[in-house]
Order: sequence, then C-alpha cells, then structure tokens
Amino acid sequence: MSARQADVVALDGDGIGPEVNAVARALADAAARHDGLQIRWQERHVGGISIDEYGTALHDDVLADCHAADAVLLGAVGGPRWDTTDPEAPRPEQGLLGLREGLGLYANLRPVKPWHSLRAASPLREERIEGTDLLVVRELTGGLYFGERARVDDRAYDTCVYSRGEVERVARRGFEAAQGRRRKVTSVDKANVLESSRLWREVVHEVAGDYPDVELEDMLVDNAAMQLVSRPASFDVIVTENMFGDILSDEAAMITGSIGLLASASLGDGGRGLYEPVHGSAPDIAGQGVANPIAACLSAAMMLRYSLGSPAGADRIEGAVDHVIENGPIPRDLGGAATTTDISAALLAALEEPELPAP
Ligand code: NAD
Repeated sequence: MSARQADVVALDGDGIGPEVNAVARALADAAARHDGLQIRWQERHVGGISIDEYGTALHDDVLADCHAADAVLLGAVGGPRWDTTDPEAPRPEQGLLGLREGLGLYANLRPVKPWHSLRAASPLREERIEGTDLLVVRELTGGLYFGERARVDDRAYDTCVYSRGEVERVARRGFEAAQGRRRKVTSVDKANVLESSRLWREVVHEVAGDYPDVELEDMLVDNAAMQLVSRPASFDVIVTENMFGDILSDEAAMITGSIGLLASASLGDGGRGLYEPVHGSAPDIAGQGVANPIAACLSAAMMLRYSLGSPAGADRIEGAVDHVIENGPIPRDLGGAATTTDISAALLAALEEPELPAP
C-alpha cells in the first residue's frame, strides 16, 4: 500500500532556526513513516534570510506556497544583523505577522506541562508545579495589536477592537481543545474595566452553551497572572485575547524552566497550521551546535496531530522527547553538555524504541 502524503513548507529562518528545524524535520519524517505517512518538504525563506534574498521578510510566492501546503514548520527569525531603528526598513518579525495574517491563523496554542525530572529547573517550588498540565489558547489576529493606532502631537493611542465572530471562533478552539483534555476552560478578560472584554465574556458564555460537557470559569487578567504562579495545576485550557495571551503565555512558559522546551501551534479555519518553537533565533548561540531542538520537535508533533492527521506520529515524537528528558543526554540550557547532534541522535533512537506507542 502506498503511503499517504502531506505537503509541508519548511521555513527554517535565522540563527538557530535551521539547526533546530533540521532535527524536527528528521524526527517528523521518522514518526510519520511509522504511521504510513510521507512528508514532502518545500524549503523556503522567511525573516532575515528572506530580507537578504528578496528585500522583504515574506515574499508573496512563499506565502502562496504556505497557502497551498498542509502545514508550515518554522524555526525562528531575527538577529542583530537585521536590527534597525529605520521605520522604512524591513524587519524579520514582519515575516511572522505576515504569515499569521495571510494564513488567517487566529488561534495560538501553547501547551505547558513540566517534566518530572526537570522540576528543579522551574523558578516555582516543586510542590507548586506538581500536576501542572495547561494549554494557553491566545487570540492572534485581533485586539490591540491590530487596532487603529496613532500619535497626535504629544499623545498616542492604540485601540482594542473585537467582533463577535472573532471571539466566537477562538472560543470554539478553546472548548474543543478542552474536550480532549480535562474539560475546563478559564476565559481571561478585564470585563470590570474594558468594553471589549465585556463583549468577550458575553460571547464566550454563548459559545459555552454548545459545550455542556466543559466547565467554564471567568477570571480577570490580573487575578490570572497571580493564579498562574500560585496554583498553576488548577488550570486546564486558558482562552484569552491577544495581548493578555501574549503576556500570560510567557509567564506560563517559565513554569517549565526553559524556553528551549516550549512548542506552539497557530491555527485558522480548516486543518492548516503554522508550528514553531516559542523561543527566538538565539543569536548568542547560533552556529555553535548547542541549541536545544526539543521545542522544535514538540512543534512538529503538534503539526502531526493537528494538521497532518497523524496523532500516532505525534505520540511517538512526544514519547521520544519524554524518554530523552527523563534519561538524558541533557542539553546545555538545562545544565548539561549535550550538543544539538547528541540530542538529535538520542531522540531518533528513542523514537524507534519498541515500548513507545505503536501506530
Ligand atoms: P531568544 O528566545 O532567541 O533567546 C533568549 C535566550 O534563550 C538566549 O540566551 C538563547 O541562547 C536562549 N535560547 C533560546 N532558544 C534556545 C534553545 N532552543 N536552546 C538553547 N537556548 C535557547 O530571544 P531573544 O534573545 O530575545 O531574541 C533573539 C532574536 O530572536 C531577536 O531578533 C528576536 O526578535 C527574535 N525572536 C524571534 C521569535 C520567533 O521567531 N518566533 C521569537 C522571539 C524572538
């Protein structure tokens, strides 16, 4: 029987992006093969490398290729070489914003689940993080980051606008995710002050009616910021608007102890998604062969699960990551001495272990 096929655009990007994406792609290939799936990669440029080549951080042809693909696997973009204060000059992050907007990726999913053996790496006390397993679903294409803004004389303003439709679709993503987890959604807003938050709360409650098996709680964002560090294990799925999600997801991320472990998925309507590690291009270690590829590998696992119809492949990658984190080798950001190549070899070997979930 011939293998199922999937088309994925690889946007390795800048700095450590190509180093970690190479590992993620090799692992995705191996896991997909076990599940009777073949991934056809198209390598394209985004970010600084795209500015060098095309004068823009995201070329229209690259966006068109992403539109035509089943998924996009991105490394990271940016670096001092492209830092500029010239408002007219292209910037690498424009590539990311262009992809999110161009592909209609309105929901950003970031899972946070600390590993047992890494509890000491967390800035929180071990008993506090025990049992933490949460998912932040952040609205990605609306709110303050996309509203009208201006500077007039010595004043400046940004506006936060949400439509019912924008709130509804991201809320649905949150409730659907909760159905596959512990069936609880915490909707975070600032409804005691902001009108956009009052609309947010109203719409989330309407949507909740379609998911009677999921518990809904409302939480003000200032309280959520406290609860995340005081009792993180009480959260299952957190759904929130763009800026609150930006801040809370970074706060939640630190619970695991290293940015080199955190994956993300950005989803729109339909199955296509963009998958990338939470970390940046880490110019301070780029080219040294010491980047931790685990966040990129876990992003590839999310890609297999959400866009390529291979939950078994995703389980296989996550199983290999669990194995390596619990048994070593340990990468430098977690206090070890293993290189990217060492971690890659260990992950590929663990992926072939017979005790991992069979497809
Ligand atoms: P960063 O995440 O690149 O690095 C922060 C620190 O974490 C650095 O010390 C780095 O060495 C370390 N680190 C990050 N990922 C690691 C990994 N996989 N393994 C080991 N160590 C790792 O953040 P920054 O330094 O603030 O930004 C660097 C560049 O990346 C900037 O140009 C920034 O704009 C860009 N950036 C890009 C993205 C993205 O592509 N999504 C996200 C954040 C920052």
